[in-house]
Amino acid sequence: MNGMEIAPQMELLGFALIAGVFALFAAIEMVSPARPPVRGRRWLTNLALFAIDTLAVRLLIPLLMAGVAVLAAERGWGLLNVIAWPGWAEFALAIVVLDVALYLQHWATHRVPLLWRLHKVHHSDPTFDVTTAARFHPVEMIASMGWKMAVVLVLGLPVAAVLTFVLVFNLATLFTHANFALPRWAESPVRAILVTPDMHRIHHSSWQQETDSNYGTLFSVWDRIFRTYTSNARGG
Ligand SMILES: [Zn+2]
Repeated sequence: MNGMEIAPQMELLGFALIAGVFALFAAIEMVSPARPPVRGRRWLTNLALFAIDTLAVRLLIPLLMAGVAVLAAERGWGLLNVIAWPGWAEFALAIVVLDVALYLQHWATHRVPLLWRLHKVHHSDPTFDVTTAARFHPVEMIASMGWKMAVVLVLGLPVAAVLTFVLVFNLATLFTHANFALPRWAESPVRAILVTPDMHRIHHSSWQQETDSNYGTLFSVWDRIFRTYTSNARGG
């Protein structure tokens, strides 16, 4: 089976998984929220944006990214199609490189005024729960898709890793926005590797200095390496 044939199946599996994880996190938020829940209008906005983004871009992302990866492999374009690495190493490299690329993208959306105007939609949510994960301006989604496709093309990333990354990244986005906290004992060992909801909640602070920190989504290491890590919230 070639890369393009698995894309629609990964997409279906991905949507089922995302819907299941969304429902699970929403249920945990109801039972034990980290902060008092606020629903009402903001839910309507977040879910409307989710619907628009899904119809306009979200459905296209795995297909276009897989398409670019297959094209690069067929034509021998991109770094990994020139220097052959073992399959597992290419897979691991693709996941790590895509995550750091999205860390850099997120950093840029806070630093470049035009990009911040789009990204502000995500930060304009008055509070923070699993539905915030869906609150993105459609144009930001399109720009992000273009950036990811460029990375896949230039590096010649393998299609299976690209599709896996898209799915894992979506699940990580749900997790980091969930309005619950990990048990106290789990927070620091998990945060040593992954971004946790408590870590990302600092990024959604009303204090700009905290908002301009903790840009990571999957691995927490980038914020430590690039010195954008805030460990404890001071703002509200
Ligand atoms: Zn942000």
